[in-house]
Amino acid sequence: MNIVEGEQALKIAVIGGGISGLAAAYTIQEASKAKNLNTTVFLIEAENRLGGKILTEQVDGYTIEGGPDCFLRQKPWAAQLAGTIGLKNDLIGTNDEKRKVYVVNKGRLVPLPDGVMLIVPTRIMPFALSPLISILGKIRMGLDLLVPPFKGECDESIGDFVRRRLGKEALEKIAEPLLSGIHVSDPEKQSLLATFPRFRALEQNHGSLIQGMLKERKLAAKKKPVSGNGPTSLFLSLRGGLSQMVNQLETSLQDVQLLCGQKVTRLERQAQTGFCISLSGHTPLEVDAVILAIPAHDASGLVRSFAPQIAAELQKIRYVSTATISLAYRKSDIRRPFSGFGFVIPSKEKRDISACTWTSIKFNHRAPEDTILLRCFVGGPGKEEMVSLSDDEMVAVVRRELKALMGLDAEPILTRIYRWEKANPQYDVEHLTLVRQIFDQCQEIPGLYLTGSAYEGVGIPDCIRQGQQAAEKVMGFLSETKAEIRL
Ligand SMILES: Cc1cc2nc3c(=O)[nH]c(=O)nc-3n(C[C@H](O)[C@H](O)[C@H](O)COP(=O)(O)OP(=O)(O)OC[C@H]3O[C@@H](n4cnc5c(N)ncnc54)[C@H](O)[C@@H]3O)c2cc1C
Repeated sequence: MNIVEGEQALKIAVIGGGISGLAAAYTIQEASKAKNLNTTVFLIEAENRLGGKILTEQVDGYTIEGGPDCFLRQKPWAAQLAGTIGLKNDLIGTNDEKRKVYVVNKGRLVPLPDGVMLIVPTRIMPFALSPLISILGKIRMGLDLLVPPFKGECDESIGDFVRRRLGKEALEKIAEPLLSGIHVSDPEKQSLLATFPRFRALEQNHGSLIQGMLKERKLAAKKKPVSGNGPTSLFLSLRGGLSQMVNQLETSLQDVQLLCGQKVTRLERQAQTGFCISLSGHTPLEVDAVILAIPAHDASGLVRSFAPQIAAELQKIRYVSTATISLAYRKSDIRRPFSGFGFVIPSKEKRDISACTWTSIKFNHRAPEDTILLRCFVGGPGKEEMVSLSDDEMVAVVRRELKALMGLDAEPILTRIYRWEKANPQYDVEHLTLVRQIFDQCQEIPGLYLTGSAYEGVGIPDCIRQGQQAAEKVMGFLSETKAEIRL
């Protein structure tokens, strides 16, 4: 492709400077360079910093994550992007020799049996000997080998799925705190197909989850690990925290005009083609295409004037609020030592926190040697009022819970609170149908693209993939429709 000399640049606005918007802007920049396209890209972010939910703070030798703290290695897009922008050697894995996750059961920390992969037991002895699940509950989980697979393609809730295959106890003690914890969702509303489609595939391809997991594990064991390709743990992070990726992307966006601290207040369609963008502190911008990489409720407000139907559908994607509280302790103040990655809490236990990560055990480079860093989660479905507690109240609640559950009554030497209001999109049953309807309707509005955690995956790798895909669609649209580009 070539640009006709003297023609005006194609203008593209990416609204939202979280990881989805950053990935989109970076992809457009690199494609423009590679194809010698004359594009002007604006990345517009309401806050004074980029990163959205990704927020790492360096405080007194601690690396504290306010939002996400790692990403799944199996989904390659995050590690690939980190490599592309020069962070390959900064990728770190979890300390798997210390990998142990606990589940709170009747107020006590009980280890998740070895060999439980996500929710599926794959090793008989550790599972049989575990005190976490009752004998009847274990027998019911074993019936997964006999329960016929679901025929058909319709969606169901995680709650219905796990009850059907593994029984009620497995749902309450394992699936709800682990699976719904990742998505901060109510398992009775959470869509199986939008959040864990692999489980449906396992039961349909292998007849049962246990059989399927065992076969997949065998296949994975046969594959030789590729040496020299970075850490191989399930989850990855960056030495300096996840904001390292945001900062490096910001540095790499040399051909993109960054407009931080500029909230988009209005988006209008132009009479012929393109859009006019009103900003809180900048003259309006006229662009040929727009990528909305912002939460669905914000996107709804911006498209309402010209696409009321899309706006209404976007409002159907619910969000919940959460908060994370990081606490640091001197090792010498801890009377009952602990080791592992932390614990999760089934909602049946009715506690005021939902999980606690033992951050400086899970990852290196997170706390000074003589200290320990923990991170607790509050809020989520049914508990959102916790997020409105004052700082002092929230720390008091968390300390009370850590004392009750871990016997940890030491005085923290540092506390940090991060509130995430209406930040976690809820993928309810039939979420994928809703998203398909929204995307289909967007095709009626040339040059408008939606991307980000609201749609097809909340994890960082999925957000990056979606940002990249939106960028490719914009480039495709512009190359097809704009006379400036000659094939
Ligand atoms: C507490 C917490 C822990 C998490 N843990 C993990 C984890 O460990 N691993 C993982 O993979 N994922 C995790 N996630 C999920 C993941 O962090 C998010 O899904 C992802 O970062 C969202 O990225 P995004 O770019 O789509 O949206 P966001 O990060 O929400 O970015 C959207 C941006 O748009 C901006 N914006 C909104 N409206 C406007 C406007 N009108 N004008 C201009 N800008 C606007 C916002 O300010 C924001 O910066 C976690 C999320 C939370 C909240």
